[in-house]
Formats: sequence, structure tokens, C-alpha cells
Amino acid sequence: MSYDSENIFAKILRGEIPCDKVYENDHALAFNDIGPQAPVHVLIIPKGPYLSSNEFCANATDAELAGFMRAIHAVAEKAGVLDSGYRLIANAGEDGHQEVPHFHVHLVGGRRIGPMIKRVD
Ligand code: 5GP
Repeated sequence: MSYDSENIFAKILRGEIPCDKVYENDHALAFNDIGPQAPVHVLIIPKGPYLSSNEFCANATDAELAGFMRAIHAVAEKAGVLDSGYRLIANAGEDGHQEVPHFHVHLVGGRRIGPMIKRVD
């Protein structure tokens, strides 16, 4: 599967669809999730066209990797959850239940998030 430049996050990056921006740097954009699962639910995305963590982790430049990780820290600080804690989630592929085909990390917090995953098997 190759990167689809018509995915919803690519449109947000191009300014074709609005977002509730939380933070931006040269390599990453962060905005509130449209369907928040917690009081704090921010999506952090790289500005480059990376389909999933596979492509981002393998192919992003050092500057892109650093900019992305710094963005996570900046978002946690802005959202006031650095000390209280939060969870980072990156879904990838079918088993990971990734819905939007542009790499993103969910930062969720603002309440006790609970156990990491629910055992279903
Ligand atoms: P995934 O399942 O791919 O890890 O998560 C995709 C996330 O993107 C979901 O939590 C969903 O609520 C969010 N989302 C989908 N479309 C939009 C949108 O147009 N704007 C924003 N802000 N979030 C979106």
C-alpha cells in the first residue's frame, strides 16, 4: 500500500480541512482528536507523507524524528499532563486497527486511562 495524499490528515496538513491546532513545529503538527476518548486526546502527526510507523521509523530523517518526538513533549506540557501522566498510542496496519493512513500518535490523558489493552482472547 502506498501513501494516499487524499487522506484526511494530508488534507489537514494542506489546510483544506480545519483542525483544532495544539502545537506545530517544522516537522510535526498536533491537533485535538475529533472524537476524544479522554479529557486530553491530541493527535501528533509528522508533516511528511508517512503512511504508518513502518515508513516513519524506517525512512524519516533524523531531524523529522527529533521534531516529532519534541512535539510529543511540547503537547504533553501544553496539555498539562507532564506530571499527571498520559498514554501514547500508535496504531499500525490491520491488526493495530489504524484507520487514517498517515502516521499519527494519540496522546491521551486527563484521567486514569486504565490498563493498557483489554484481553479478548
Ligand atoms: P487511528 O484509528 O487511525 O489510530 O485513529 C484515527 C483518529 O483520527 C481517530 O481517533 C479519529 O477520531 C481521528 N479523526 C478522524 N478524522 C478526523 C478529523 O477529520 N479531524 C480530527 N481532528 N480527527 C480525526
